[in-house]
Amino acid sequence: MDLLFEFSDPLGPEKVIGIYQPGLDLRAIVVIDNVALGPAIGGCRMAPDVTLEECARLARAMTLKNAAAGLPHGGAKSVIVADPRMPPERKELTIRAFAHALRDVRDYIVGPDMGTDERDMAYIHDEIRRSVGLPREIGGIPLDQIGATGFGISIAAEVAQDFCDVKLSGARVAVQGFGAVGKHAARFLAARGAVLVAASDSTAMILNRNGLDVQALAAFKDSGGSIRDFQGGERLSRDAIIGVDCDIWIPAARPDVITLKNVDSIRAKLILQGANIPASDEAEQRLHQRGVLSLPDFIVNAGGVICAAIEYQGGTQALAFQTIEEKIHENTLAVLEAARSHNALPRQAAVDLARKRVLSAMTYRRF
Ligand code: NAD
Repeated sequence: MDLLFEFSDPLGPEKVIGIYQPGLDLRAIVVIDNVALGPAIGGCRMAPDVTLEECARLARAMTLKNAAAGLPHGGAKSVIVADPRMPPERKELTIRAFAHALRDVRDYIVGPDMGTDERDMAYIHDEIRRSVGLPREIGGIPLDQIGATGFGISIAAEVAQDFCDVKLSGARVAVQGFGAVGKHAARFLAARGAVLVAASDSTAMILNRNGLDVQALAAFKDSGGSIRDFQGGERLSRDAIIGVDCDIWIPAARPDVITLKNVDSIRAKLILQGANIPASDEAEQRLHQRGVLSLPDFIVNAGGVICAAIEYQGGTQALAFQTIEEKIHENTLAVLEAARSHNALPRQAAVDLARKRVLSAMTYRRF
């Protein structure tokens, strides 16, 4: 309880739900942070080590992200404490039971996140209808397959060029976590002339100063391969990626990977926060002092949720890409201009923009 109230403030969280089904060993938490802008959209993360704290912080990031993106949706998040590599039949049972437990929770629309995918969203849709990121066959825009978030990251990078000493053409990129977000960010940035020099997953990092073959690495990962087995560069330990010599560093895996302990090993001039909450506040301050431009997660990685919102409204994939481009371009520019004119951290400027929208919407609510 104490932990819960430690995270509450004038925005939320509005509801915290614990789910436990001993028969299935299903343990899950749902945090609905704020629904002033509309029913909350937020991912469902499955991992063995997820916590209430992680869930609450991610739910707040969704409130800010959806508000900053101008979507008619509040923020929420859910976590299922389990290993996503469990047998498929067991995973289906777990996901269906999770959905069933949410049958009366009408202000939360579930999306995919680490450890869950389009198939899982289809099971939830089959149970309670309230999910996004669905397979194409049932009207979805498969946001991870098309790279909605990675595309948005590349748009933010384009805007950031005018605010830091990095030009996309020839820029050396390192990606931590070559999954749905990381691989597509690398692909869209490569299409703009950048060169992927390092990538990691949970097993290892691969480094090639002349450039990794993005398509080959993505195909290798898609076929179930791990980076430790990929030929095409020098293999190093997973966490060595933080100190790689590069221009753009993209965290696209777990939270809290940049802290005061390792922030000074970062050699990039631009950080694009693909992962949610990848850096501590102190680490972001330090980056700012060092003149490293770090673009906040909820501005840069909003492509996925913008796509999900378009899907929820019955829109097309083409409309999703167009909306992601417009919104992320506009928001990144607004945040960077505000940060520059107030000599503030980009995160502070972004939080101010999003909070203002949520607080204003809250004045229309009954309570
Ligand atoms: P994913 O499961 O597809 O990929 C994650 C990748 O990270 C995997 O390759 C995994 O092996 C790797 N990984 C795990 N732990 C690692 C570690 N310690 N070091 C290096 N690599 C590690 O997940 P995803 O959908 O790409 O999401 C990645 C991050 O981006 C998460 O923080 C998620 O919340 C955030 N995010 C995702 C989306 C989206 O559209 N999928 C949108 C916004 C934010």
